[in-house]
Amino acid sequence: MRRRELLAAGSAACALPAAALDFAAPRAPAAMRVSTDRIIDIAVGIRPFRAQGPRIEAQRLHGKTVVHHYGHGGSGWSLSWGSAQRALALIQAHAKPAARIAVIGAGAIGLTTARTAQQAGFKVRLYARERPPRVHSSAATGLWTPESRIAASEHATAAWCADWEAMARASFKAHQGYLGLPSGPVEWHDGFVVSDDGFDTPLPGHVGEPDYPDLYPRVADLRPQGKALQPGEHPFHQAQARRFTQLVFNIPAYQRLLLDDFARDGGELVQREFRTPRDLARLPEAVIANCTGDGARTLLGDASLTPVRGQTARLIPQPEVDYAVIYRGHNVVALPRRDGLLVAAMGEHDFGNADLRPDREHSEDAVRRLAALFG
Ligand SMILES: Cc1cc2nc3c(=O)[nH]c(=O)nc-3n(C[C@H](O)[C@H](O)[C@H](O)COP(=O)(O)OP(=O)(O)OC[C@H]3O[C@@H](n4cnc5c(N)ncnc54)[C@H](O)[C@@H]3O)c2cc1C
Repeated sequence: MRRRELLAAGSAACALPAAALDFAAPRAPAAMRVSTDRIIDIAVGIRPFRAQGPRIEAQRLHGKTVVHHYGHGGSGWSLSWGSAQRALALIQAHAKPAARIAVIGAGAIGLTTARTAQQAGFKVRLYARERPPRVHSSAATGLWTPESRIAASEHATAAWCADWEAMARASFKAHQGYLGLPSGPVEWHDGFVVSDDGFDTPLPGHVGEPDYPDLYPRVADLRPQGKALQPGEHPFHQAQARRFTQLVFNIPAYQRLLLDDFARDGGELVQREFRTPRDLARLPEAVIANCTGDGARTLLGDASLTPVRGQTARLIPQPEVDYAVIYRGHNVVALPRRDGLLVAAMGEHDFGNADLRPDREHSEDAVRRLAALFG
């Protein structure tokens, strides 16, 4: 079609009432196909929680400068880029420009720290005992939740909260740079928060967990406000629902892209386990970013870290489903990830629990509760 014909066709379409256009007519969202026989994988991971918030500080250790960068609780993917900028400032204070530095750890924090250092001109060698998909970060749900189990209220001073906000905003901006790519590492999706008994009842806490600061209002402007829906405006039979819009990470695609970008820019990945801090002294690099997550508990004997177990199940991918569900009160989250319909459920006893054995019954129970929502 020539340009003039194209323009004419365009203006004719504009003259039609919106309802006459196929693409403008509202469509009922496709129902999620949730049944236990569609589970294709169950992953278990550990959130590295610190009541004080992430540890981002430099320390002289056995002749090396170690920039500690771990303890991001349930927010590692979300906060990663902003947090990496903090770690970078410490690296820059101790390493010559363009020097070779070491990063230990290939989870969300190690990969983003390595990329941030490369972008600042450093040569990076990444050492890790495990690489994706065997890192804890691979088990993550994949929502932008920079406030999830990131610190205990008692440590969230005004200065700490302001610093957290700056990291969250920087990270949010960096994630937007990964939109629109063919593998879809980052996408925006609409979703429904669903509740059996309304949204005003407070949710019960989980066993042993501290009080968490209410940080969400500080970054509420970064995503559209939720909207209450009337029955008929959502696909759930016996529940109330609100619409929300949320940033979703397709974790495998994001990890793959970060690893590919790291290698393309000359990064080296070495499989190695460090058993004691003294092992760090054997590295040729003088500055080392320690991004070992929960691994720092054993490597450094850091008792400020508490493991928080989490489990996610993937169901056979359903590309026609493009919305998320948060089932309030049931602690079940379902995400339309590209590698499967992801179903995550909080456990009663996750806090302080480092048990990595999958509990299939727990995931099946979450799937059944979700299935009941669709009738
Ligand atoms: C079920 C679940 C759901 C989650 N959902 C979300 C979410 O929706 N959004 C979000 O933002 N975050 C989420 N998180 C949190 C997020 O996944 C973590 O904050 C993040 O994984 C922490 O990343 P990390 O790189 O510090 O640790 P890890 O992923 O554990 O990586 C640590 C790396 O260090 C290496 N390592 C450790 N010890 C040693 C050693 N001694 N020698 C050599 N290498 C070592 C490991 O092999 C690995 O490569 C979730 C977590 C879980 C478990």
